[in-house]
Amino acid sequence: MFQQRIDRVRRLMAEQQVDVLLLSVGADLPYFCGYEAMPLERLTMLVVPRDGDAHLIVPRLEAPRVVERPGVFQTVPWDETDDPIDLARSLLGPASTAAIGDHTWAGFLVDLTKVLPSVEFRRASELTSPLRSVKDAAEVESLRAAAAAADRVAVDLRSGDIELVGRTEAEVSAELGRRLLAEGHQRVNFAIVAAGENAASPHHEAGERVIKPGEIVLCDFGGTMMDADGVGYCSDITRCVHLGEPPADLVEAYDVLFEAQAAQVAAAVVGQPCQEVDRVGRAIIAGAGFGDNFIHRTGHGIGTEAHEDPYIVEGNDLELRPGHAFSIEPGIYLPGQWGLRLEDIVVAASDGPDNLTTTDHRLAVVDA
Ligand code: ZN
Ligand code: ZN
Repeated sequence: MFQQRIDRVRRLMAEQQVDVLLLSVGADLPYFCGYEAMPLERLTMLVVPRDGDAHLIVPRLEAPRVVERPGVFQTVPWDETDDPIDLARSLLGPASTAAIGDHTWAGFLVDLTKVLPSVEFRRASELTSPLRSVKDAAEVESLRAAAAAADRVAVDLRSGDIELVGRTEAEVSAELGRRLLAEGHQRVNFAIVAAGENAASPHHEAGERVIKPGEIVLCDFGGTMMDADGVGYCSDITRCVHLGEPPADLVEAYDVLFEAQAAQVAAAVVGQPCQEVDRVGRAIIAGAGFGDNFIHRTGHGIGTEAHEDPYIVEGNDLELRPGHAFSIEPGIYLPGQWGLRLEDIVVAASDGPDNLTTTDHRLAVVDA
Protein backbone atom coordinates (compact mmCIF):
# COMPACT_ATOMS: atom_id res chain seq x y z
CA MET A 1 0.00 0.00 0.00
CA PHE A 2 2.73 2.49 0.94
CA GLN A 3 4.67 1.55 -2.18
CA GLN A 4 1.57 2.19 -4.32
CA ARG A 5 1.14 5.59 -2.72
CA ILE A 6 4.77 6.46 -3.39
CA ASP A 7 4.45 5.21 -6.96
CA ARG A 8 1.43 7.45 -7.46
CA VAL A 9 3.13 10.53 -6.05
CA ARG A 10 6.17 9.81 -8.25
CA ARG A 11 3.90 9.89 -11.30
CA LEU A 12 2.64 13.30 -10.22
CA MET A 13 6.22 14.42 -9.60
CA ALA A 14 7.08 13.46 -13.16
CA GLU A 15 4.06 15.34 -14.53
CA GLN A 16 4.86 18.45 -12.51
CA GLN A 17 8.66 18.31 -12.94
CA VAL A 18 9.42 17.85 -9.26
CA ASP A 19 12.72 16.07 -8.66
CA VAL A 20 12.41 15.20 -5.00
CA LEU A 21 9.73 15.07 -2.31
CA LEU A 22 10.73 15.94 1.27
CA LEU A 23 8.29 15.07 4.07
CA SER A 24 8.73 15.81 7.74
CA VAL A 25 6.23 16.46 10.55
CA GLY A 26 2.57 16.41 9.52
CA ALA A 27 0.11 13.97 8.00
CA ASP A 28 1.88 13.37 4.67
CA LEU A 29 4.66 11.32 6.25
CA PRO A 30 2.51 8.61 7.88
CA TYR A 31 0.34 8.47 4.75
CA PHE A 32 3.34 7.61 2.56
CA CYS A 33 5.46 5.51 4.94
CA GLY A 34 3.46 4.63 8.06
CA TYR A 35 5.73 6.62 10.36
CA GLU A 36 4.78 9.80 12.19
CA ALA A 37 7.56 12.24 13.03
CA MET A 38 7.84 13.59 16.53
CA PRO A 39 7.29 17.36 16.36
CA LEU A 40 10.68 18.12 17.85
CA GLU A 41 13.80 20.08 16.97
CA ARG A 42 15.60 16.99 15.64
CA LEU A 43 15.01 16.48 11.93
CA THR A 44 12.93 13.57 10.66
CA MET A 45 12.60 13.57 6.87
CA LEU A 46 11.49 11.15 4.19
CA VAL A 47 13.48 11.89 1.04
CA VAL A 48 11.77 10.57 -2.09
CA PRO A 49 13.71 11.27 -5.31
CA ARG A 50 11.61 10.93 -8.43
CA ASP A 51 14.11 8.35 -9.65
CA GLY A 52 16.03 6.52 -6.95
CA ASP A 53 15.46 5.00 -3.53
CA ALA A 54 13.50 6.66 -0.75
CA HIS A 55 15.25 7.20 2.60
CA LEU A 56 13.82 8.04 5.99
CA ILE A 57 16.20 10.21 8.01
CA VAL A 58 15.48 9.83 11.73
CA PRO A 59 17.30 10.76 14.93
CA ARG A 60 19.00 7.57 16.16
CA LEU A 61 17.10 7.66 19.46
CA GLU A 62 13.80 7.56 17.53
CA ALA A 63 14.89 4.85 15.08
CA PRO A 64 13.48 2.04 17.28
CA ARG A 65 9.98 3.48 16.65
CA VAL A 66 10.32 3.04 12.89
CA VAL A 67 8.48 0.06 11.43
CA GLU A 68 10.72 -1.00 8.56
CA ARG A 69 8.98 -1.26 5.19
CA PRO A 70 11.44 -3.16 2.97
CA GLY A 71 11.28 -1.92 -0.58
CA VAL A 72 9.45 1.27 0.42
CA PHE A 73 12.24 3.17 2.16
CA GLN A 74 15.55 2.65 3.92
CA THR A 75 16.01 4.08 7.39
CA VAL A 76 19.01 6.35 7.85
CA PRO A 77 19.52 7.15 11.54
CA TRP A 78 21.64 10.16 12.43
CA ASP A 79 23.70 10.70 15.58
CA GLU A 80 23.59 13.72 17.86
CA THR A 81 26.80 15.11 16.38
CA ASP A 82 25.77 14.57 12.74
CA ASP A 83 24.38 17.33 10.53
CA PRO A 84 20.96 16.05 9.38
CA ILE A 85 20.54 18.86 6.84
CA ASP A 86 23.77 17.75 5.15
CA LEU A 87 22.51 14.17 5.29
CA ALA A 88 19.27 15.20 3.57
CA ARG A 89 21.25 17.09 0.92
CA SER A 90 23.39 14.02 0.22
CA LEU A 91 20.29 11.86 -0.37
CA LEU A 92 18.48 14.26 -2.73
CA GLY A 93 20.30 13.36 -5.90
CA PRO A 94 20.48 15.98 -8.61
CA ALA A 95 17.51 18.26 -8.05
CA SER A 96 16.39 21.60 -9.33
CA THR A 97 12.85 21.47 -7.88
CA ALA A 98 11.93 20.05 -4.48
CA ALA A 99 8.46 19.70 -2.94
CA ILE A 100 8.61 20.03 0.84
CA GLY A 101 5.87 19.12 3.32
CA ASP A 102 3.73 22.14 4.21
CA HIS A 103 4.07 21.46 7.93
CA THR A 104 7.86 21.10 7.89
CA TRP A 105 9.37 23.46 10.42
CA ALA A 106 10.41 26.71 8.76
CA GLY A 107 13.84 26.43 10.38
CA PHE A 108 14.62 23.27 8.41
CA LEU A 109 13.51 24.85 5.14
CA VAL A 110 15.70 27.88 5.82
CA ASP A 111 18.68 25.59 6.50
CA LEU A 112 17.95 23.56 3.34
CA THR A 113 17.80 26.67 1.17
CA LYS A 114 21.26 27.60 2.45
CA VAL A 115 22.87 24.31 1.40
CA LEU A 116 20.76 24.04 -1.78
CA PRO A 117 20.76 27.62 -3.09
CA SER A 118 19.78 26.66 -6.65
CA VAL A 119 16.86 24.41 -5.71
CA GLU A 120 13.34 25.79 -6.08
CA PHE A 121 11.08 24.72 -3.22
CA ARG A 122 7.37 24.13 -3.66
CA ARG A 123 4.61 23.02 -1.33
CA ALA A 124 4.31 19.24 -1.17
CA SER A 125 0.54 19.62 -0.77
CA GLU A 126 0.32 20.42 -4.50
CA LEU A 127 1.24 16.76 -5.01
CA THR A 128 -0.01 15.09 -1.86
CA SER A 129 -3.43 16.72 -1.32
CA PRO A 130 -5.02 15.45 -4.55
CA LEU A 131 -3.87 11.94 -3.63
CA ARG A 132 -4.78 12.06 0.04
CA SER A 133 -8.20 13.64 -0.53
CA VAL A 134 -9.49 10.66 -2.54
CA LYS A 135 -9.90 7.79 -0.10
CA ASP A 136 -9.76 4.16 -1.15
CA ALA A 137 -12.22 1.61 0.23
CA ALA A 138 -10.00 0.68 3.18
CA GLU A 139 -9.58 4.33 4.14
CA VAL A 140 -13.33 4.89 3.99
CA GLU A 141 -13.76 1.98 6.39
CA SER A 142 -11.14 3.49 8.72
CA LEU A 143 -13.05 6.78 8.66
CA ARG A 144 -16.29 4.89 9.26
CA ALA A 145 -14.83 3.17 12.31
CA ALA A 146 -13.65 6.50 13.74
CA ALA A 147 -17.03 8.10 13.00
CA ALA A 148 -18.84 5.21 14.69
CA ALA A 149 -16.73 5.66 17.82
CA ALA A 150 -17.55 9.39 17.91
CA ASP A 151 -21.20 8.48 17.32
CA ARG A 152 -21.22 6.33 20.46
CA VAL A 153 -20.05 9.30 22.50
CA ALA A 154 -22.62 11.58 20.84
CA VAL A 155 -25.44 9.13 21.59
CA ASP A 156 -24.49 9.23 25.29
CA LEU A 157 -24.36 13.02 25.13
CA ARG A 158 -27.82 13.28 23.58
CA SER A 159 -29.38 10.79 25.99
CA GLY A 160 -28.27 12.72 29.06
CA ASP A 161 -25.77 10.04 30.12
CA ILE A 162 -23.06 12.67 30.11
CA GLU A 163 -23.89 15.06 32.91
CA LEU A 164 -23.95 18.70 31.87
CA VAL A 165 -25.80 20.88 34.41
CA GLY A 166 -23.57 22.18 37.20
CA ARG A 167 -20.33 21.18 35.49
CA THR A 168 -17.90 23.48 33.76
CA GLU A 169 -17.46 23.36 29.99
CA ALA A 170 -13.89 22.22 30.64
CA GLU A 171 -15.03 19.27 32.76
CA VAL A 172 -17.45 18.12 30.06
CA SER A 173 -14.77 18.62 27.40
CA ALA A 174 -12.40 16.38 29.38
CA GLU A 175 -15.10 13.73 29.70
CA LEU A 176 -15.82 13.80 25.96
CA GLY A 177 -12.09 13.31 25.40
CA ARG A 178 -11.91 10.38 27.81
CA ARG A 179 -14.88 8.76 26.12
CA LEU A 180 -13.36 9.19 22.64
CA LEU A 181 -10.30 7.31 23.90
CA ALA A 182 -12.43 4.66 25.61
CA GLU A 183 -14.28 4.13 22.32
CA GLY A 184 -11.08 3.33 20.45
CA HIS A 185 -9.44 6.59 19.48
CA GLN A 186 -5.72 6.93 20.25
CA ARG A 187 -5.78 10.71 20.30
CA VAL A 188 -8.24 13.49 21.11
CA ASN A 189 -7.92 16.32 18.59
CA PHE A 190 -10.46 18.71 20.13
CA ALA A 191 -13.57 18.72 22.27
CA ILE A 192 -15.39 22.02 22.02
CA VAL A 193 -18.06 22.48 24.69
CA ALA A 194 -19.84 25.82 24.43
CA ALA A 195 -22.78 26.69 26.65
CA GLY A 196 -25.37 29.42 26.11
CA GLU A 197 -23.89 32.56 24.60
CA ASN A 198 -20.51 30.84 24.23
CA ALA A 199 -22.04 28.62 21.55
CA ALA A 200 -22.18 31.68 19.30
CA SER A 201 -18.37 31.42 19.00
CA PRO A 202 -17.77 28.50 16.60
CA HIS A 203 -14.29 27.66 17.93
CA HIS A 204 -15.01 28.53 21.56
CA GLU A 205 -12.45 27.11 23.96
CA ALA A 206 -14.13 25.19 26.77
CA GLY A 207 -13.53 27.08 30.00
CA GLU A 208 -14.59 27.50 33.60
CA ARG A 209 -18.12 28.61 32.77
CA VAL A 210 -20.65 26.47 34.65
CA ILE A 211 -23.43 24.97 32.51
CA LYS A 212 -26.94 25.94 33.69
CA PRO A 213 -30.48 24.64 33.11
CA GLY A 214 -32.29 26.31 30.22
CA GLU A 215 -29.19 26.54 28.03
CA ILE A 216 -28.04 25.20 24.73
CA VAL A 217 -24.78 23.20 24.89
CA LEU A 218 -22.92 22.81 21.60
CA CYS A 219 -20.39 19.96 21.56
CA ASP A 220 -17.98 19.49 18.63
CA PHE A 221 -15.41 16.77 19.16
CA GLY A 222 -13.13 14.39 17.33
CA GLY A 223 -10.02 12.33 17.55
CA THR A 224 -7.68 10.07 15.62
CA MET A 225 -8.05 6.29 15.40
CA MET A 226 -5.18 4.13 14.15
CA ASP A 227 -5.76 1.55 11.45
CA ALA A 228 -3.91 -1.77 11.20
CA ASP A 229 -0.96 -0.09 9.46
CA GLY A 230 -0.58 2.50 12.19
CA VAL A 231 -2.00 5.31 10.06
CA GLY A 232 -4.50 7.44 11.96
CA TYR A 233 -7.89 8.53 10.59
CA CYS A 234 -9.93 11.33 12.14
CA SER A 235 -13.45 11.71 13.46
CA ASP A 236 -15.40 14.96 13.83
CA ILE A 237 -19.00 15.45 14.96
CA THR A 238 -21.14 18.28 16.30
CA ARG A 239 -24.40 17.86 18.16
CA CYS A 240 -26.39 20.29 20.31
CA VAL A 241 -28.24 19.53 23.54
CA HIS A 242 -30.82 21.82 25.12
CA LEU A 243 -31.19 21.58 28.87
CA GLY A 244 -34.92 21.78 29.43
CA GLU A 245 -37.58 22.94 26.97
CA PRO A 246 -36.00 25.13 24.28
CA PRO A 247 -37.51 28.53 23.43
CA ALA A 248 -39.53 28.78 20.23
CA ASP A 249 -37.04 31.00 18.38
CA LEU A 250 -34.26 28.51 18.97
CA VAL A 251 -36.41 25.58 17.83
CA GLU A 252 -37.28 27.51 14.66
CA ALA A 253 -33.62 28.20 13.94
CA TYR A 254 -32.70 24.57 14.61
CA ASP A 255 -35.35 23.38 12.16
CA VAL A 256 -33.78 25.62 9.51
CA LEU A 257 -30.31 24.27 10.31
CA PHE A 258 -31.58 20.68 10.24
CA GLU A 259 -33.17 21.24 6.83
CA ALA A 260 -30.08 22.98 5.44
CA GLN A 261 -27.69 20.30 6.67
CA ALA A 262 -29.82 17.46 5.30
CA ALA A 263 -30.07 19.23 1.94
CA GLN A 264 -26.30 19.65 1.84
CA VAL A 265 -25.67 16.00 2.63
CA ALA A 266 -28.10 15.04 -0.14
CA ALA A 267 -26.33 17.43 -2.52
CA ALA A 268 -22.91 15.90 -1.89
CA VAL A 269 -23.00 13.71 -4.98
CA VAL A 270 -20.20 12.81 -7.34
CA GLY A 271 -19.69 15.55 -9.91
CA GLN A 272 -21.12 18.29 -7.72
CA PRO A 273 -18.76 21.26 -7.30
CA CYS A 274 -17.78 21.75 -3.63
CA GLN A 275 -19.08 25.31 -3.65
CA GLU A 276 -22.49 24.10 -4.84
CA VAL A 277 -22.83 21.98 -1.67
CA ASP A 278 -22.09 25.11 0.34
CA ARG A 279 -24.62 27.17 -1.62
CA VAL A 280 -27.45 24.66 -1.17
CA GLY A 281 -27.40 25.05 2.62
CA ARG A 282 -26.55 28.71 2.64
CA ALA A 283 -29.60 29.49 0.50
CA ILE A 284 -31.92 27.72 2.94
CA ILE A 285 -30.37 29.46 5.95
CA ALA A 286 -30.43 32.85 4.21
CA GLY A 287 -34.00 32.26 3.07
CA ALA A 288 -35.04 31.94 6.70
CA GLY A 289 -33.37 35.24 7.53
CA PHE A 290 -30.19 33.84 9.09
CA GLY A 291 -27.82 34.56 6.19
CA ASP A 292 -25.58 36.79 8.31
CA ASN A 293 -25.52 34.21 11.10
CA PHE A 294 -23.83 31.41 9.12
CA ILE A 295 -20.32 32.79 9.41
CA HIS A 296 -18.08 29.98 8.19
CA ARG A 297 -17.66 27.58 5.29
CA THR A 298 -19.79 24.44 5.18
CA GLY A 299 -17.00 21.96 5.72
CA HIS A 300 -13.51 20.57 5.31
CA GLY A 301 -12.01 17.38 4.00
CA ILE A 302 -11.02 14.80 6.60
CA GLY A 303 -8.70 11.83 6.59
CA THR A 304 -5.33 11.40 8.21
CA GLU A 305 -5.68 15.08 9.06
CA ALA A 306 -8.67 16.64 10.82
CA HIS A 307 -8.82 19.41 8.20
CA GLU A 308 -7.59 18.75 4.66
CA ASP A 309 -8.79 19.02 1.06
CA PRO A 310 -11.45 19.28 -0.25
CA TYR A 311 -12.91 22.36 1.42
CA ILE A 312 -16.66 22.84 1.01
CA VAL A 313 -16.59 26.55 0.46
CA GLU A 314 -17.65 29.22 -2.02
CA GLY A 315 -14.90 29.60 -4.61
CA ASN A 316 -13.93 25.92 -4.66
CA ASP A 317 -15.22 24.60 -7.98
CA LEU A 318 -13.53 21.22 -7.55
CA GLU A 319 -16.03 18.53 -8.48
CA LEU A 320 -16.61 15.80 -5.91
CA ARG A 321 -15.13 12.44 -6.82
CA PRO A 322 -15.85 9.01 -5.36
CA GLY A 323 -13.76 8.79 -2.20
CA HIS A 324 -13.78 12.47 -1.30
CA ALA A 325 -14.49 12.62 2.46
CA PHE A 326 -15.52 15.83 4.19
CA SER A 327 -17.62 17.42 6.89
CA ILE A 328 -21.00 19.05 6.34
CA GLU A 329 -21.37 21.44 9.27
CA PRO A 330 -23.51 24.51 8.78
CA GLY A 331 -24.22 26.70 11.81
CA ILE A 332 -26.42 29.56 12.94
CA TYR A 333 -24.94 31.89 15.53
CA LEU A 334 -26.64 34.71 17.44
CA PRO A 335 -23.91 36.71 19.19
CA GLY A 336 -24.56 37.11 22.91
CA GLN A 337 -27.38 34.57 22.87
CA TRP A 338 -26.73 31.10 21.45
CA GLY A 339 -25.27 29.14 18.59
CA LEU A 340 -26.22 25.97 16.74
CA ARG A 341 -24.17 23.67 14.51
CA LEU A 342 -24.84 20.24 13.08
CA GLU A 343 -21.94 18.22 11.70
CA ASP A 344 -21.58 14.91 9.90
CA ILE A 345 -18.76 13.28 7.97
CA VAL A 346 -19.82 12.34 4.45
CA VAL A 347 -18.09 10.43 1.66
CA ALA A 348 -19.02 11.04 -1.98
CA ALA A 349 -19.68 7.64 -3.56
CA SER A 350 -20.83 6.48 -6.96
CA ASP A 351 -24.18 5.37 -5.49
CA GLY A 352 -24.78 8.61 -3.61
CA PRO A 353 -23.60 10.36 -0.45
CA ASP A 354 -22.36 7.94 2.23
CA ASN A 355 -23.03 9.60 5.59
CA LEU A 356 -20.61 8.05 8.09
CA THR A 357 -22.22 9.86 11.03
CA THR A 358 -25.40 8.14 12.20
CA THR A 359 -26.28 9.93 15.45
CA ASP A 360 -29.79 11.42 15.51
CA HIS A 361 -29.76 14.85 13.89
CA ARG A 362 -32.63 16.39 15.86
CA LEU A 363 -32.06 18.84 18.67
CA ALA A 364 -31.60 16.77 21.83
CA VAL A 365 -33.68 17.98 24.76
CA VAL A 366 -32.49 16.74 28.13
CA ASP A 367 -34.39 17.27 31.39
CA ALA A 368 -32.78 19.89 33.57
ZN1 ZN B 1 -16.24 19.54 14.27
ZN1 ZN C 1 -15.36 19.80 11.38
